[in-house]
Amino acid sequence: MTENYEKCLYTYLGRHIYMHMYQHDAKRLEAILRVQSEIKKTMADYLKSKDFIEISPVILSPITDPLNHPTAPADIKCYGKTYRLMQSMIFHKQIAMRYLEKIFVFSPNIRIEPVNRRKTGRHLFEFTQLDVEAREATREGMIKLCETLITRVIKIVNNKCRDELTLLGRKKLQVPKKPFKRIKYDDAYTKYGKEFETKISQKNKHPIWITDIPLQHREFYDREDPKKPGYLRDMDLLYPEGYGEALSGGEREYQYEKIKEHIKKKGQRLSDFQEYLQIAKHGLPPSAGFGIGIERLTRFICGLKRIEETSLFPKTPGKTCL
Ligand code: AMP
Ligand code: MG
Repeated sequence: MTENYEKCLYTYLGRHIYMHMYQHDAKRLEAILRVQSEIKKTMADYLKSKDFIEISPVILSPITDPLNHPTAPADIKCYGKTYRLMQSMIFHKQIAMRYLEKIFVFSPNIRIEPVNRRKTGRHLFEFTQLDVEAREATREGMIKLCETLITRVIKIVNNKCRDELTLLGRKKLQVPKKPFKRIKYDDAYTKYGKEFETKISQKNKHPIWITDIPLQHREFYDREDPKKPGYLRDMDLLYPEGYGEALSGGEREYQYEKIKEHIKKKGQRLSDFQEYLQIAKHGLPPSAGFGIGIERLTRFICGLKRIEETSLFPKTPGKTCL
């Protein structure tokens, strides 16, 4: 595969500046983008057939996902107020549930990831999530929906993109059997240790769910399991063949007092989420959903070494990119 990070000469208004531009192989790029386009179409078509409404992405907001790992703030001042480029649309999805029952959005995210994440081959600092949310939905319902979407994508891409997959050297992907296997976070940790995600992903031939993630390992908006305090009603999906995390999702905390309690428990400041809290005070409906990275899904389906191949203008952490 093309793994060319050479500096390329770029001419701008007669001045020469150096920047890193990913050197794509045009034939491979075309094949990958055709597959990606089919993936997005398959998922959007299915969601629409199930009455989900596609909404437009939010780009800037005073509130965005605090995430569970450090990223540099991507802030912009507008009219004297600090706005942030979206790290995810989680809060907007919850707020949307006040008006709409089922939504999805192809949401561009900016996450200024630590530079060492460049090594993983699955991190960009600009990427797109298919973000899905449904009112009164449960984790179980969302797990089923994800399994249907992923198996459909594999089936359809196998059929419609045979030439592209052959060009990319990807053997016909097996359609995983439903339901996918599951393992609880604590059991995975006990069995495989700290690097359990990597190990499970490398060892398995099919996608596998991690469920029941302890509260301290996730964000405050994830819903605590009323039957299992300290654990969340959420899930991550891991791709097989070492491709790592595919998606995260679960039920959301919607009760104002609980949300505040969880923000404080995580050592975060209520004032950082004031706009969200104001709305939560007036009532957020219970909901569940998930976000799946489009570039990572494309990488897995196409069997690519690096995520950069899935984007015409990839943003590699730590590099100056187009
Ligand atoms: P998260 O909210 O962190 O669980 O992210 C949701 C999904 O977005 C992940 O499961 C990945 O598929 C994708 N994702 C997260 N961070 C990145 C990144 N830096 N580059 C590419 N995809 C990402
Ligand atoms: Mg995640």
